Amino acid sequence: MALPRGYISHSQIRAYRECPRKYFFAYVENIQPPINDKVFLGEVFHSAIEHYFLQRIGGAMPADEAVEAYFCSRFDGDACGREISWGSPRHETRQRGLAFLKHFLRHLAPDARPLMVEKELCAELPGSGVMLKGVIDLVEEDYCITDFKTTTGRWSDSRARNSPQMVIYRYLFDRSFGPLPASLKYEVFYGRTAGSVRHQTLRVVPEEGAVDSLLAMIGDMVQRIGAGIFPARETPFCRHCDFRSQCRDKGSA
Ligand code: SF4
Repeated sequence: MALPRGYISHSQIRAYRECPRKYFFAYVENIQPPINDKVFLGEVFHSAIEHYFLQRIGGAMPADEAVEAYFCSRFDGDACGREISWGSPRHETRQRGLAFLKHFLRHLAPDARPLMVEKELCAELPGSGVMLKGVIDLVEEDYCITDFKTTTGRWSDSRARNSPQMVIYRYLFDRSFGPLPASLKYEVFYGRTAGSVRHQTLRVVPEEGAVDSLLAMIGDMVQRIGAGIFPARETPFCRHCDFRSQCRDKGSA
């Protein structure tokens, strides 16, 4: 079996590592369940900061009010046209997202020096012909690569350190632009309510050999996908899985 999308990406790798059967439902059967409020908020937040950075790259300095208005308009427009599973009430999600954005505009945006935003990079992996693809949220003039997260709780250092996402970005960046003095960080906005929003900066320095381990892991995963190996991996988190009903029909979870 060829890769369902013709390439591998961090979100596919994450899905397969969490549960190969989840990957099967999402990418082989292409089942698209309603998105939840947290994912929706993240999408609209990313759209608003992309809107902001594109103007900065074009030489303008957008007013905070204009960026906040963009967020609200995008949130309201997209919420009407999509099936969203609201775990928290819609107006609370909107207020929380707006609080994340205000925090970003006040504490991070003024010092940012954007060079590229939502930059899609891809590279063929050596020896396999497999395409690895990634979309980097922000690259700054000093080649600092940033991924923005919106979430309810604070991240641990080890969560940032152990995610393959930044190793993928660094690898794709080096393959696309040559070895440059790039650095990596997550900017994590977190809080359960609009009144409790905070943010943390987590710098990531890949360990020696991280790229080789990543390439070996991806190679093994691509082989398993090609062989049609999609076992269910049942954990307590199955109760939050978007594919739980399909999984039950197949006799698991
Ligand atoms: S319910 Fe559990 S076992 Fe089934 S697809 Fe989801 S994560 Fe995998």
